[in-house]
Amino acid sequence: MADEFPFEISPMFEGERVRKGDMYVELAGPKSRGFELVRAVEMDEIEDGKFTLIGPDLSEMEEGTRHPLAMIYRIAGELVEPDLEAIVERRNHDFQNYIQGIMHLNQRYDIWLRVSKGAIQKGLNSFESIARAAMMLFKNELPFIEKVEATYITDMDEIEKELVGAMEIYSARDERTRDLHDEDVDTFYGCSLCQSFAPTNVCVITPDRISLCGAINWFDGRAAAKVDPEGPQFAINKGKVIDEIGGEYYGVNDIANSLSSGEYDRIKLHSFFEYPHTSCGCFEVVGFYVPEVDGIGWVDRDFAGTAPNGLSFSTMAGQTGGGKQIVGFLGIGINYFRSPKFIQADGGWNRVVWMPKKLKDKVSGDIPKDIIDKIPTEEDASDLESLKKFLIEKKHPIVEKWAEEEEAEKEEEPVSHAPVPMGGQSPFQMPAFQMPVPAAGGSGVKLIFRNAKISIDRMIVKKRD
Ligand code: SF4
Repeated sequence: MADEFPFEISPMFEGERVRKGDMYVELAGPKSRGFELVRAVEMDEIEDGKFTLIGPDLSEMEEGTRHPLAMIYRIAGELVEPDLEAIVERRNHDFQNYIQGIMHLNQRYDIWLRVSKGAIQKGLNSFESIARAAMMLFKNELPFIEKVEATYITDMDEIEKELVGAMEIYSARDERTRDLHDEDVDTFYGCSLCQSFAPTNVCVITPDRISLCGAINWFDGRAAAKVDPEGPQFAINKGKVIDEIGGEYYGVNDIANSLSSGEYDRIKLHSFFEYPHTSCGCFEVVGFYVPEVDGIGWVDRDFAGTAPNGLSFSTMAGQTGGGKQIVGFLGIGINYFRSPKFIQADGGWNRVVWMPKKLKDKVSGDIPKDIIDKIPTEEDASDLESLKKFLIEKKHPIVEKWAEEEEAEKEEEPVSHAPVPMGGQSPFQMPAFQMPVPAAGGSGVKLIFRNAKISIDRMIVKKRD
């Protein structure tokens, strides 16, 4: 089928990684600019199969260099409607990864691609081949697309100009769910795209919870399930509510059970600690529990430094991904910060104790006014000590919780003082965890676990006679 291309095309290349040493060029990514966008247009507005390149082609790029890249596809067809744009756009990730020697990561304005040296040696020398392969796959796999044309841009000025419009389109998509809530609908949507690399991942998209990749909202899921009911996005009859605050529904639990092949049978959509949503690896932001302050920090892909727990986004993403329910970490899409149900089972914004400045600025309009100045960024807290100091100084609501917990602990038998809320359904996984244990002499000891996986039914600490 793909003899016309200087590369193999197959889903089996999806997991292929192009490491730095094997890389010929890097495109877009955190150190450059780029985006991908799909627009629905009328049939007579486009020429099927047309490809346009603005900027230098692959053959003009030197080995080891980095370049910006935007990929814009315009699609048309009798069934094509604007609600399908995000769904089709998300498939660009799959289709680019079907190409041997191409690695495509992330979505929207976060895309990051690498072309391998091997692909160049086999004759890949133009973006046109990549775009033609993607267009062929769009039409083969999404038959409602009758016509498609592609424009790739590698010129930085042109990308900057087009990116402004693209950002407006992404925001307009995200805004659509603002006035619709989980209780207003009977149907949620699921997506199984990431099961190719995270087989137990159960992705549930509701009006109050955008997908972890941030690319698919409830309206997008609905449009996709309507046009292709057998496709990767499907309807979930939400069923009766079990826990309104946590966001647990019979229908979601049933689908969790079948999609994860029995590994999970409970998911609470708005809970961080108890039966949390699974995290595949495509998430835009990772949340991490900070036991030392009993709060939750959030770090996004764009943040290059380390969070106050000493860990970077990529280290924590490695702990979180894989389609598991990991108590202590949670992957989310940025738009979930705008949800009125944002981790409401755990205190919502009152539980948030740290975010990178850029991320905080991005969602600042949705952070409650009474807490916004109490949430530190890397400018206020870079380690656990400065984090704790900031929270105390600003009278963050979590500080009151410490006092309440201390009071409650005094009344209890001193069995264990680990301030770790456990869901109970999965082993606690925490890359660095300090557990203060009061000793008989009163001076205290500190146990430090690094990269530990701990599963404990019961722990008894007794004074030695
Ligand atoms: S993160 Fe979820 S919605 Fe996004 S592509 Fe993966 S499975 Fe689909």
